[in-house]
Amino acid sequence: MIEKERMTEHVMDLIRIDSLSKNEKDVAIKLQKDMEDLGAECFYDDAGEKVNGNVGNLIVKLEGNKSDALPFFLSAHMDTVGPGEGIKPSIEDGIMKSDGTTILGSDDKSGVAIIVETIRALKDNGIPHGDIEIAFTICEEIGLLGAKHIDISKFKAKHGIVLDSSTPDRLVLRCPSAERMEFIVHGLEAHAGLCPENGISAIQLASEAISKMKLGRINDITTANIGVIHGGRATNIIPNHVRVVGEARSHSEEILREQVDHMRKCFHDAVSKNEVTIHDDLSIEGITYIAKLDEYIERSYDRMDVDVKCLPVILVETAVKNLGYTIEHHTSGGGCDANYFNEMGIECVNLGTGMYELHTVNEYLVMEEFFRSADIVLESIRLNTIIPS
Ligand SMILES: [Zn+2]
Repeated sequence: MIEKERMTEHVMDLIRIDSLSKNEKDVAIKLQKDMEDLGAECFYDDAGEKVNGNVGNLIVKLEGNKSDALPFFLSAHMDTVGPGEGIKPSIEDGIMKSDGTTILGSDDKSGVAIIVETIRALKDNGIPHGDIEIAFTICEEIGLLGAKHIDISKFKAKHGIVLDSSTPDRLVLRCPSAERMEFIVHGLEAHAGLCPENGISAIQLASEAISKMKLGRINDITTANIGVIHGGRATNIIPNHVRVVGEARSHSEEILREQVDHMRKCFHDAVSKNEVTIHDDLSIEGITYIAKLDEYIERSYDRMDVDVKCLPVILVETAVKNLGYTIEHHTSGGGCDANYFNEMGIECVNLGTGMYELHTVNEYLVMEEFFRSADIVLESIRLNTIIPS
């Protein structure tokens, strides 16, 4: 029932439309047309204004033709990471790739295309279904911002599927909580050749802090990273300002708290008691300057932990079985829009679409898995329709 050729062409069309985070408008307009052609109602929420993007989340409602079926929720994100402009997709031996100078953007255009093809297959084959509600979100890649600001009151569905993970061999049920940390170290500027003793190097203090930090994989369920450093102006100036941005993620709130506290302590220890006293000709006592630290700690998103016995898990597992495949439950190290949807009361699992090596120029899409994922979604919707509401 899934038309592979149509689905392939569609995902390539979507990939060719640039849609870096906050610039999803062009792809949203195409999707709006695709969905309106299928008789769906489309509108945008105000998330775009809230995050300073050029369009909001595209919300799509397809009225069911079976009134006693439970409404079903589907979602995929429209934005991509960079380098993601002028992507040229091609297929060889069942694998879709870019030309190697950009990402492919199958994250998450593959999820978007699976949703559209599923709706097309429902329509073409006259398959009975309940109301289907779709969120094509913006700004997933920059902190799940579209999902964070979505107008959830627009949805009636209480369960569904998000299509935004790697392989349909796995069903993501658990994603971590994440915390973003920004540290600004203030030192004291001085000429590095004439009077280095009159300066405090913010770069040196930051590096002292980072060198003491536990980073990378902390344990099975926790990771931490310093991802950005900005500071310094010239080799002959002792730098007075460094900005360091990092994150920590964990499936345990307690361990996450410990890791964040540890990273903060490293900065506090490095910066505290760092001072320099400068004597000029007029004052005997001199003036003392102290290094300072500003820190901004912010929750990026809360963890997701879906019950193995909940409805979307049962639907997907039964669908997979009916189709003759297998699937395993998976705990992911990454967050996704489903973190927010679950928190907001729409219970959803994250099904893989066949995409690999995400966020790199080597990203690729395994076509067999891409088609299989669409079959699984279509069968899940069919099963959802026969559950008495
Ligand atoms: Zn994604």
